Amino acid sequence: MRRCAGHAAGIMRGMSPHRPPRRPHLWLPLLLASQLAVVVAWWWLGWRVGLPLLLASHALCLWGVLAPGSRLFGPVLTRLPDGAQGVWLTIDDGPSDDTLPLLDLLDAHGAKATFFLVGARARARPELVREILRRGHGIGNHSQTHPQAVFWALGPARMRREILDCQRTLSGIAGQAPVWFRSVVGHSNPFVHAPLRDAGLARVGWSARGFDAVEADVDRVVSRIAADLAPGAIVLLHEGAGHGRNVGMVAGVLARIQAQGLRAVLPD
Ligand SMILES: [Zn+2]
Repeated sequence: MRRCAGHAAGIMRGMSPHRPPRRPHLWLPLLLASQLAVVVAWWWLGWRVGLPLLLASHALCLWGVLAPGSRLFGPVLTRLPDGAQGVWLTIDDGPSDDTLPLLDLLDAHGAKATFFLVGARARARPELVREILRRGHGIGNHSQTHPQAVFWALGPARMRREILDCQRTLSGIAGQAPVWFRSVVGHSNPFVHAPLRDAGLARVGWSARGFDAVEADVDRVVSRIAADLAPGAIVLLHEGAGHGRNVGMVAGVLARIQAQGLRAVLPD
């Protein structure tokens, strides 16, 4: 296992929820300090103390990589600030054949959403990116090629390319740079936050999800998400999944949002 440890990067309190990372390399001195502490504990107190400490520090590192809401390597927004009245719908993995039906659906409900787009897919269908913006929605960076099996393990050069290539692609099509980033599969690692800082991107997680990228049962997805709907919630949705039911799922979520007297709004 890669040796790492770290600490939640500080999040400043303020009006805007948009906070790009400020200290993306903080994990390195904390990692070194933690492993030095393990060695010292092992030396003075023996393996019965040193070994569990070593394993715990590595388990913490793995949690930081795999847990979508983990702030071990840098900040992530998982809820809108206190006092937020609406919910933020985020739709990942487009553009796709679902994009236009989704835009019609959102219009019919008077709802706004942010589409986290894959750069290569946006380059193939730039007219869909422009249509998203024309209808008053937002776009975010969701990597250039969506390497979902290996995103968590990407080294610094490839990670930077994934993030900055998507940023360039979307900026070129939209005429403005995205300010939000959604990690692929929600994973993180020590190399995500430096390119985010350099591009002025803030990482967005979620507080409600229904596993709609893999789950084909519309009712099950909608009721999982509905259980976590509340003012300030960030809802994770997808488009273009193999099961072909994403539009029906978003329709179900919009109906629940309306039934609960909530509104789907953008954070900025
Ligand atoms: Zn994705």
